[in-house]
Amino acid sequence: MTTTVETALGPVATSELGPTLMHEHIVTRSPGVQENWPHLWDRAEILAVAERKMADLHARGIRTIVDLTTVDLGRDVELIVDVARRSSVHIIVATGVWWMPPRYFNTHGVDEVADLFVRDITRGIGASGVKASIIKCATDTAGVTPVIETILRASARAQKATGVPISTHTWAAGRTGLVQQAIFAQEGVDLRRVVIGHSGDSEDLDYLRALMERGSTIGMDRFGLEHYLPTAKRVEVIARLCAEGYAGRMVLSHDANCWSDALSEHEKRRTRPHWHYNHIPDDILPALRTASVSQQQIDRMLVDNPRAIFEARVGAS
Ligand SMILES: [Zn+2]
Repeated sequence: MTTTVETALGPVATSELGPTLMHEHIVTRSPGVQENWPHLWDRAEILAVAERKMADLHARGIRTIVDLTTVDLGRDVELIVDVARRSSVHIIVATGVWWMPPRYFNTHGVDEVADLFVRDITRGIGASGVKASIIKCATDTAGVTPVIETILRASARAQKATGVPISTHTWAAGRTGLVQQAIFAQEGVDLRRVVIGHSGDSEDLDYLRALMERGSTIGMDRFGLEHYLPTAKRVEVIARLCAEGYAGRMVLSHDANCWSDALSEHEKRRTRPHWHYNHIPDDILPALRTASVSQQQIDRMLVDNPRAIFEARVGAS
């Protein structure tokens, strides 16, 4: 039997996912702004930029990206589909909410919110027919506020109802991944079905080991965002954890995008010159090899772990 995962263009065999970046974005934008000021939004130009960036990624051997863009990051599934049609890289789409939930989520309960996520996963997003294959939720510096707790618990319940994995945003300096795990475990989620994101921002090895010892995968997923943690430290932490036997519990990514209304291409290059999709294939994989990370360990982080995370859906409750 072939195991498949839903992508923007429909089901793909998990054996075809190949090298996968587990936390990226196609486009992030402020919901409602372009709808009200459409002159800020040149869709054709954004598509052209995205087409070029996806081709660059494919040329470097990356075969799948996971787009963790939620409603509060301006998820636009029609745009993702149009990018996917112009690309040879598979795009996996998410449901869920980031840490800036629209007011709707303040006044609706956990099960009502979980139903929205389940709908995206089982019936598809809006009228697009595109099914989400992963649930995103987030805890930032404010911690678990009432609305964030609603979303964390709704994510857990949607995970249990559908079997798809959860992938989180954390404030690693505040060790917020541990709080997320506690809430998921309370809701009965198998923590092996969870990726604790932005863990690569931390060099607190005790924190990172604790997340993995509870079964979760950690996202070493902000390569190029030097202000959270410089590249050399990010590489050092991964090499150390690989040497300790944790290659089966880490995934790699940049948290980059093709286009964002928060930061122009020019500003990105000026302030974050290495923060782009090609940084891992061009610079990080060679740096990991220099730091004694084996090709087999790289393949686990880039190919085997992502595949396993999406395959474990089979047999889920
Ligand atoms: Zn992100």
